[in-house]
Amino acid sequence: VNRSDIHYFGAGPAPLPTAVLENAAQVLLNYRDKGLGLCEISHRSPEANEILTNTKQALITLLDIPDDYDVLFLQSGGTGEFSATVYNLVSIWVEKQRAKIAAEVGDDEAEVLKRLRSVVDDELRLDYLVTGSWSLKASQEATRLVGAKHVNVALDARKSNDGKFGRIPAEDEWTLTPRARGGPAFVYFCDNETVDGVEFPAFPKSLEGDDAPLVCADMSSNFISRKVDVRKYAVIFGGAQKNIGSTGIAIVIMRKSLLPPTSKSASPDLLRALNLPVGPIVLDYPTISKNNSLYNTLPIFDVWVAGQVMDRLVNNYGAKKIGGQEEVSNEKARLIYETLDKYSDLYRVVPDKTARSRMNICFRVHGGDAEREKAFLAGAEKKGLLGLKGHRSVGGIRASNYNAVSLEGAKLLVSYLEEYAKAA
Ligand code: PLP
Repeated sequence: VNRSDIHYFGAGPAPLPTAVLENAAQVLLNYRDKGLGLCEISHRSPEANEILTNTKQALITLLDIPDDYDVLFLQSGGTGEFSATVYNLVSIWVEKQRAKIAAEVGDDEAEVLKRLRSVVDDELRLDYLVTGSWSLKASQEATRLVGAKHVNVALDARKSNDGKFGRIPAEDEWTLTPRARGGPAFVYFCDNETVDGVEFPAFPKSLEGDDAPLVCADMSSNFISRKVDVRKYAVIFGGAQKNIGSTGIAIVIMRKSLLPPTSKSASPDLLRALNLPVGPIVLDYPTISKNNSLYNTLPIFDVWVAGQVMDRLVNNYGAKKIGGQEEVSNEKARLIYETLDKYSDLYRVVPDKTARSRMNICFRVHGGDAEREKAFLAGAEKKGLLGLKGHRSVGGIRASNYNAVSLEGAKLLVSYLEEYAKAA
């Protein structure tokens, strides 16, 4: 089967532009006539440094990332960042509390520790908005690391939706840790839930304002698909393997004021004394930042792929930057949802209209009849429309509409939806 004969709607890893892969084949064999390929050269070579700088710059350009934010590359995958956000932000929170107490009680270390224990006990809260499988997993990881007592599930979207994910309840139904009580150490949400097809339509209003909490967002499955006001976030992270590049790196965009010298992290001894976890060094944001993401061996080939994909977007959309890709993403999603809604006797979009993902379009056919959905998928495959099977945990159909799915591919899916509906 030829690449050009198929359109792939898999949820990730996702397709990459063919031209990037053709160049990749070349650079794997011989990068810039060095006689060595990109997987073979040192991550500390001038060539690797140039790739790192270029990829970073492309992301900064696309998302208009302000100067007071840093961009880090890690090998953590998206899941590693579930842990990294907890380790890093809890450690910063603890150090801030310690410094406050020390300013009051002076050098009496035993007294500082005593008071700090009680502050941690009473006030350490991590707020999670659970709107789908991935934010659920992130909240479970937080619980595993710091204990249930410190994790406030400020929203479990299943509770008002028959036990299933699929809508984002109004913000006045969320139970965020009150700002009056010092607020949470951070609020976490997943901007786009890949499995459940739920996307935040906009940044939550209740997380804005002068005394806004630190906000962490997982953008693994909608990274660089729409404009983002980066300043509203403390940390944005995502695995690269859906919209940006190949599997192997995660990207973190973080506020520099959370890094030294402005913010310090608690010492490992202090965290141990407080029964709080000490994170692995490879997930330590200050260490990764200080070493320009080269604390340990960074897979430069994956950074190169991400850079190539993003350079194309920069060149294609010019001054519109990621706004250009946003228009295309919106249009593809509009065409597909419009067709599903047109034949609503046959197709049922799973999530509520107010929270439909532009990236992962989840629907059922024939009311979810397993055999008939299988036949629907087989018909799609015959037309070269692949990867449409829903996640194993929820079943049904899922069309993942990432950046590398062309408008033409989305239109072919729409034609199949039309054709199937007319024949049904
Ligand atoms: N977060 C989201 C929204 C995802 O879709 C995924 C993977 O599909 C992850 C996190 C986990 O990423 P990884 O498999 O790189 O750990």
